[in-house]
Amino acid sequence: MLERRAGSRYDEQNTEKSEAFGGVAAFRQQSQNDRAKPNYNNYGKEENYMKVLVINCGSSSLKFQLIDSETEECLAKGLCERIGIEGSMITYAPQGGEKEKTTTPMSDHTEAIRLVLEALTNAATGVVKNLDEIGAVGHRVVHGGEKFAKSVIIDGEVLKAIEECNDLAPLHNPANLIGINACRKLMPETPMVAVFDTAFHQTMPEEAYLYGLPYEYYRNYKVRRYGFHGTSHSYVSKRAAEVLGKRYEDLKIIVCHLGNGASVSAVKNGKCVDTSMGLTPLQGLIMGTRSGDIDPAIVEFIAHKEGKNIDEIMNILNKKSGVLGLSDNLSSDFRDLEAGYDRGDENAIRAMRTFCYNVAKYVGAYTASMNGVDVICFTAGVGENGPLVRSMICEYLGYLGIALDPELNNRRGEDIAITMPESRTTVMVIPTNEELAIARETVALV
Ligand code: ADP
Repeated sequence: MLERRAGSRYDEQNTEKSEAFGGVAAFRQQSQNDRAKPNYNNYGKEENYMKVLVINCGSSSLKFQLIDSETEECLAKGLCERIGIEGSMITYAPQGGEKEKTTTPMSDHTEAIRLVLEALTNAATGVVKNLDEIGAVGHRVVHGGEKFAKSVIIDGEVLKAIEECNDLAPLHNPANLIGINACRKLMPETPMVAVFDTAFHQTMPEEAYLYGLPYEYYRNYKVRRYGFHGTSHSYVSKRAAEVLGKRYEDLKIIVCHLGNGASVSAVKNGKCVDTSMGLTPLQGLIMGTRSGDIDPAIVEFIAHKEGKNIDEIMNILNKKSGVLGLSDNLSSDFRDLEAGYDRGDENAIRAMRTFCYNVAKYVGAYTASMNGVDVICFTAGVGENGPLVRSMICEYLGYLGIALDPELNNRRGEDIAITMPESRTTVMVIPTNEELAIARETVALV
């Protein structure tokens, strides 16, 4: 399916950019071939086009997009905030229209979804006439444990299996389930698909996902590395191969998803072989406010020094650490840190340097995991918009023969290679689009 998409969308927009790295002739040929074929998705079914509602449900918020699967355009998107809390509001933005923000009571998620459906069908600003026009709903589900290595159509059994993963993601999975149940109540006839953040990483080999802990913790409780941001790592790595006009199965790709939450993954021959997040999204890279990897004995050390309990320490590791903590509370936002770095602020310099060194170390580790690397991709808020962060990371990677093109590194919002043609390893910026990836998975299954 992805190949067909490449033919339909890519070459009008991106041909010019891909000249920079020479794969364009092969790519054009591939696109033309794809047009002639019937549209089969990667689940082997012939495809029907439809409008897909993509839902990403948190404990008190809900993000949504309505995507036309034929044009892959976002017809409308928005956000419900403070669900079940005083002052709840819905933001709604139809394609090409004004964004509107309305404060309105939302006692629960069913009420929030009812308001979303009302906005989408509103006579003046809606984008569909009635709900029958919505062919399917795709739900982001954070943790699929070992049960889900792929997206699935939601039925009673799937709901039970997702619930069984609640232990592994107590903050996220229950909220995702509430969103699914609310949608099922309001759209009982519409097929729904669950797309898991963990699924793409299920191909990791045992030596990559096991921790050096008593094996019984894995056997009894499934304590292991799962990894997150899987939808993004999958989308970005496939897209990189498409843009380069190369076969996904032939490449060794490292994806650096650098947002507030950040993770790196190693994708070898189209399969994830390692990723930096673990049992929970706390492990791995230094993030906006999360510590990433630390010596686990620090937990006990700080608990004794400061008289804190486990919950308090976990709160510090999740909310007060990362670049926020490292910058002595200057900011968790890389826009502030980049500005601080430019004006010579020592807190910003410390945070930026430590963050970039840490990412570079993971790139080195995953180059070893895959016995080489062909492409390194940057994505998400910082990865897409932070030329300084990208160049600081690449400064450590001279041994990979990387030669950044400073002009290309300053571009934004494009799927683009930012290295010079002679660079031995290609570095790319690929804006992630998790909603589109969820919509594609959904259409492929229903
Ligand atoms: P998440 O989805 O994990 O909340 P995002 O992918 O939206 O995170 O990334 C948010 C981060 O992206 C913020 O920390 C912000 O600093 C960074 N960011 C956004 N725009 C820019 C920019 N223009 N320059 C540098 N960093 C940016």
